[in-house]
Amino acid sequence: MPEAAMDEFALIDNYFRPLAQAYAPALELNDDAALMEVAADRQLVITTDTLISGVHFIGNEDASLIARKALRVSVSDLAAMGAEPLSYFLALSLPAQTEEEWVRQFAHGLFEDQQEFGISLAGGDTTATPGPLGVTITATGLVPRGEALLRSGAKAGDDIYMSGTLGDAALGLLVAKGKLKGDALKSRYLLPQPRVALGRALRGIASACMDISDGLVQDVNHLCAASGIGAIIEAERVALSEAAAAYKGMLETILTGGDDYELVFTAPADKQAEIALLSRTLALPITRIGKTILGGGVAVLNHGTRLSLSREGYRHFA
Ligand code: ADP
Ligand code: MG
Repeated sequence: MPEAAMDEFALIDNYFRPLAQAYAPALELNDDAALMEVAADRQLVITTDTLISGVHFIGNEDASLIARKALRVSVSDLAAMGAEPLSYFLALSLPAQTEEEWVRQFAHGLFEDQQEFGISLAGGDTTATPGPLGVTITATGLVPRGEALLRSGAKAGDDIYMSGTLGDAALGLLVAKGKLKGDALKSRYLLPQPRVALGRALRGIASACMDISDGLVQDVNHLCAASGIGAIIEAERVALSEAAAAYKGMLETILTGGDDYELVFTAPADKQAEIALLSRTLALPITRIGKTILGGGVAVLNHGTRLSLSREGYRHFA
């Protein structure tokens, strides 16, 4: 083995064990698996996501940003379920020529976001790969029994809401590729903001909820299919940041682009006041963007005219 080669056990000792130290179920990463207690009045929410260099991130980002985005994508799924973040597992496939400094920065990014989201490393796997860098994070969270926000609970006639602003990340990817201008957009692509506090607060208010990862129209379609209903989205209501508003002509990119990690949810019309209050309390825009209807599929209207979109969202095998 060449002198400078990394050793996965040294990487675990130096960079990953410290991230698991304070979390008893991780058994200090000294055993074959983590061992968790779950209180009888809670349910464990578990979600996994893989990020591949060149697909989910560009590859030349700081290692700490790649780490934080990977963790946040999974935390966003916890938020979408109304769960409190608890722990995560990290499966890291490192190109053989990776430098140790890269791993150090990667672990530091995780450290920062562990503080931000109150989540601890519980285990993982470290391998070398002949392919591109791959980061798989499996996150766990807790939700009071029976209160998880599912995709399947929407009823025809519910309002449809979104948090934050839409399209920044998809436009930000184009900024990163040098096709558009706007640093604010690029940073939304690089570092999503999972809506954990909103997800938690929506328990008992939202009838259905999911995070927007692959494009609003496609994701609302998934929510509708799970609930057995259809939807009308009024495109002119969709909230845009100041930076995205400069590109509002790129409506299809905004409505179908991925990586926003905002929440889209439904609620009965009698919840409007409660949701407006929630928006003020959390200092987070929550915008009503449409309604669910009997039937199926998603119709997108722009000032009353039906938009025909060439695609609804991101697909890996398209
Ligand atoms: P096994 O061969 O039994 O799967 P490993 O030698 O792969 O065990 O891992 C040893 C310990 O280190 C385990 O507790 C595992 O969860 C942890 N571990 C390995 N890689 C990582 C990583 N990237 N992040 C967190 N924990 C890790
Ligand atoms: Mg292993």
